[in-house]
Amino acid sequence: MSAEVICVGTELLLGDILNTNCQFLATELANLGIPHYHQTVVGDNLERLQQVIDIASKRASILIFTGGLGPTPDDLTTEAIANYFATPLVEEDEIIQDIAAKFAALGRKMSRSNYKQALIPQGATILPNPLGTAPGIIWQPRPGLSVLSFPGVPSEMHRMWRDSAVPYLKSIGWGQEIIYSRTLRFRGIGESTLAEKVSHLLELNNPTVAPYASKGEVRLRVSAKATSETEAIAMISPIAEEIKEIAQEDYFGSDNDTLPAIVGDLLRQKKETLAVAESCTGGALGGLLTTIPGSSEYFMGGLVAYNNWVKAYVLGVSEEDLIEFGAVSASVAEQMATGIKELLGTTWGISITGIAGPGGGTETKPVGLVYIGLAGDEGVESFKYLFGSTRARSLIRYLSACNSLDRLRRKLLQKYH
Ligand code: ATP
Ligand code: MG
Repeated sequence: MSAEVICVGTELLLGDILNTNCQFLATELANLGIPHYHQTVVGDNLERLQQVIDIASKRASILIFTGGLGPTPDDLTTEAIANYFATPLVEEDEIIQDIAAKFAALGRKMSRSNYKQALIPQGATILPNPLGTAPGIIWQPRPGLSVLSFPGVPSEMHRMWRDSAVPYLKSIGWGQEIIYSRTLRFRGIGESTLAEKVSHLLELNNPTVAPYASKGEVRLRVSAKATSETEAIAMISPIAEEIKEIAQEDYFGSDNDTLPAIVGDLLRQKKETLAVAESCTGGALGGLLTTIPGSSEYFMGGLVAYNNWVKAYVLGVSEEDLIEFGAVSASVAEQMATGIKELLGTTWGISITGIAGPGGGTETKPVGLVYIGLAGDEGVESFKYLFGSTRARSLIRYLSACNSLDRLRRKLLQKYH
């Protein structure tokens, strides 16, 4: 017993538009706890559409179509559905009246081609479209199989889904349970290492635990199927606690938590302040910190120390060290961090110096090599990163800024726990 989404439109196959309808429906089905194992995209072609219906109707009990309900000859969804189930199309007067009224409200006359949108398979129910002309259908062509169709226009489809389709699905016994998820977020640990550490939890059935990785961050999504949100949360919480216990400081937050917000909270709680000196990130770290309203309470400011002259004369980095070790070195990163901390009189100073590429890399100092300096009242340290020479400049800069915040976050946790 499952649902299958079928998106119709040659423009989807050509890559002209992104299939956001499918993403919307996938999320909705998951939230309703309706199993969903296949999605299909098919062009505006009667024969191929019928092939898809043949396959889908044999393995799913709810078929959800989007697209191809319009008035033009390439809009074939309704015709394909009716043909496949050997059912005649009938013209629904109610739809004609509705379309005519919508045209009249715009001061226009309904065209001949719009009559096509009034054709629905005999026995089907109209799925009203309050925002556009083409209605959809809700139909049980045979016992145990439901067919729902929606226009391609996302806003129309969303509205019809919520107003009519969800109540219908609930009325036939679907969607009595909800799926509720919490996402736990980690840095400084690889996806496979974390997956190994929690491997016993990845086997669970309800809640389920699934790993994801993106942009230097690993996520574990814990999802529970339950009859209410309260019940789901009660099922998720002990698993989430166990994961946090295993991951320790590699866990940094949940759901919509962000690193600058978390670091900001820690600094605010401890009444500590931060200043930054950035070379290869050119202000990206300051940018991240100031995404948080009220960050001036703990973030004093920063310097984009891009040219060596600025590193030496404003931050006090030794000119000899700049020559001997180069601007991208542990020694220079440490002096930059100390320099900005002293200049702005803060509790903490962070520095970033690296080679963001695409040019400028050498054998010993490849693109993606970044040093992060962290100066505090107990001294200064530096951290070396190799983000990879094939990574895009923008990603290297983003990863540098995030990792520098993560270093401070860990330092604050160690200091206070
Ligand atoms: P219309 O009455 O507007 O012709 P329709 O049901 O025939 O509606 P389509 O012609 O397939 O739908 O698509 C209408 C528009 O909706 C497309 O131009 C596209 O912008 C958008 N659209 C269609 N399918 C999708 C999809 N799967 N995801 C996102 N947008 C879509
Ligand atoms: Mg169309």
